[in-house]
Amino acid sequence: MDYDILISGAGPAGLCLARALSGSGLSIALIEPQPEPALQDPAFDGREIALTQHSAQLLRRLGVWERFDPADLSPLRDARVLNGASPFAMVIGHQLSRHAELGWLVSNHLIRRAAYAAVAEARSTHGDITLITGDSVNGVHTDRDLAQVRLASGRELRARLLVAADSRFSATRRAMGIAADLHDFGRSMLVCVMTHDAPHDHAAWEWFDHGQTLALLPMNPDPASGQHRSSVVLTLPSQEIDPMLTQPAADFNRAMAERFHQRLGAMQLLSTRHVYPLVAVYPRQLVATRFACVGDAAVGMHPVTAHGFNFGLLGLDNLAGLVRAAHASGRDIANPADLARYEQTHRRATRPLYLATQFITRLYTDETPPARLLRSAALRLGERFTPFKRAVAASLTGAH
Ligand SMILES: Cc1cc2nc3c(=O)[nH]c(=O)nc-3n(C[C@H](O)[C@H](O)[C@H](O)COP(=O)(O)OP(=O)(O)OC[C@H]3O[C@@H](n4cnc5c(N)ncnc54)[C@H](O)[C@@H]3O)c2cc1C
Repeated sequence: MDYDILISGAGPAGLCLARALSGSGLSIALIEPQPEPALQDPAFDGREIALTQHSAQLLRRLGVWERFDPADLSPLRDARVLNGASPFAMVIGHQLSRHAELGWLVSNHLIRRAAYAAVAEARSTHGDITLITGDSVNGVHTDRDLAQVRLASGRELRARLLVAADSRFSATRRAMGIAADLHDFGRSMLVCVMTHDAPHDHAAWEWFDHGQTLALLPMNPDPASGQHRSSVVLTLPSQEIDPMLTQPAADFNRAMAERFHQRLGAMQLLSTRHVYPLVAVYPRQLVATRFACVGDAAVGMHPVTAHGFNFGLLGLDNLAGLVRAAHASGRDIANPADLARYEQTHRRATRPLYLATQFITRLYTDETPPARLLRSAALRLGERFTPFKRAVAASLTGAH
C-alpha cells in the first residue's frame, strides 16, 4: 500500500480534509493538477464565501481561521431578500440568532491560501501528507482490499480509501461510475468587487429582480479609498453575461448602477470580473467500495443560499471523524458501515436545502404574472412569520 488515504483535488475541501486527518497516524496523499505555487498563493477568483458561525468554528479547529488577516473578515450582520422593483425586503436579522453577526465573508482565494498553509504546517509537524501536484486522477479501481488510482502521468497509486474532492464535475466520481443529477439553470453568474456610494450596513442582498438576479455581499471598506465595498453577483443567461466581461469599466459601472436601480448610488469596478456557469449537482451515491466524495464533489449547491463550502466543511469533518475513530479502534478506515453512516448523515444535512433551493430559484425566476404575485406574497408572509425567519437565521449561522 502506498498510502492510507488518497485525496483527489487540493481545493479548499481536499486541503481541509487532509488537515483534519493529519496527526492521526494515517498517511495521506493529495493529488492536484495545479502546480504547487498556485496552491501556495492562489489567484483571486471573484468568489466571496459566506461562512457560517459553525464553519468558522471548524476552520478554527483546523488552524485555518487564525491565518486570515482580521481586515479580510467582513461581518455579515443581516440578510435581505428582495423581489422585483418593490423596495420591500424580507429581513433576516442577526438578532434572530445568538450572535452579533450571522456569519463572515472571506475571499475564496484567501481560504485556499490559508488551507494550504495549514496543510504545509501539518506536513512539517507530522510528516504524514504528500502533495502530488501537476498531476490528476485519470482512472480508478476499487475492491474489497484496496483503492487503485492511475494518474495522468501514468503513475499508479494504491491506498485503503480514495476520496474525491475534485469539484462538482468530479472526474474521479465519474471514473467510479457514479451517476449524478445535474441541474443546469441555463444561466451564468458574473462576480466582481465594486465600491459604491450608499452604505450596505453589512447586510447581504439576494434580489430576485425581473429578468435578472442580483446579490450583494457586504465587505469591509476599501482599504485604499475607505469607500463602501461589496462583492456583486449578477445572474443572467450566458449570452447576456459574456459581453459584460469585457465591457469598458465606465460602461460596466453605469450598467451595474442601473441594474441595482441606483439604490447603491454610483458604483465602481474594483477587481477582475469572473464568470461561473450556474449548475447544481447531486450524485446518486456519496460513497462506494473504499470510496467517498466530499466538498462540491459530494454536493454542488446553487450559490444562492451560500452553503456550498459550508456543507463541504460539515461533510469532511464528519468523514474525518469516522476515519480517525475507525483507525484508533483498529477497524478498517474504509469499512462499509462507516461509509454508509457518512453518506446518510451528509445526505440528511444537505438534501432538503438542495431541493428547496431548486424550488425557490425556479419560483423566483419565473416571470409569469401568477408567479410574480406568489413570490411577492411569499416574501411578505415570510417577513411576518418569525419562526420561519428564525429557521433561516439558524441555517445561515450553521446552528444545528
Ligand atoms: C460565485 C460563487 C459563490 C459562492 N459563494 C459561496 C458562499 O457564499 N458560501 C459557500 O459556502 N460556498 C459558496 N460557493 C461554493 C464554494 O465556492 C464551493 O463549495 C467550494 O469552493 C468547493 O470547494 P471544493 O474543494 O469542493 O472544490 P473546488 O474548489 O472546485 O476544487 C476542486 C479541486 O480539484 C482539482 N481537480 C480537478 N480535477 C481533478 C482531477 N481529475 N484530479 C485531481 N484534482 C482535480 C481542481 O484543480 C481544484 O483544485 C460559491 C461558489 C460560487 C461559484
